[in-house]
Amino acid sequence: MKKKCPCCGFYTIDSDDEVITDICEVCFWQYDITAHEQHERSIGPNGISLDEAKANYKKYGACKREFADKKFVRKPLNEELSSKREKAGVKYMQRWEELAYAREDGIAEGEHMRLVSQICKKMKMNQSLEKIAEDLVEEVSVIEPIYNMAKNYAPNYDPEKVFKQMSFEFTGG
Ligand SMILES: [Zn+2]
Repeated sequence: MKKKCPCCGFYTIDSDDEVITDICEVCFWQYDITAHEQHERSIGPNGISLDEAKANYKKYGACKREFADKKFVRKPLNEELSSKREKAGVKYMQRWEELAYAREDGIAEGEHMRLVSQICKKMKMNQSLEKIAEDLVEEVSVIEPIYNMAKNYAPNYDPEKVFKQMSFEFTGG
């Protein structure tokens, strides 16, 4: 039976050792009892507090922004979800996919901004996601995260705001 990682909440920590120093493969948090007891303090090997690490995991899919890369973190496995958290787990997985997508697609910032403003313009004209993707000759999966973010900014669909929020959520910038 594995232990629950206090940062991402998945069951990733091997609990056989007497002194657990496992690093979570999902969020890259190092298991550290002292840091868990004093969750608001930045102590121990992680160099940040558990509270910060949890917030980072939600934002970046890793306990620290610099670990938000497939080299360090991965999706939780099915057996790492507890039944109670199954729903939340699925949500996290979707989120993880989004983050992975944003990191991998390598769209340069200027180009990304242009894409966002094109999508916003088209949304103002009430075009559907599929139509926008077709017009811009992009995969729906590329357009969709921007489209979904822009929806929050209806009816003006301010591209600057959408772009800012996207960068914040997907790259932390
Ligand atoms: Zn974790």
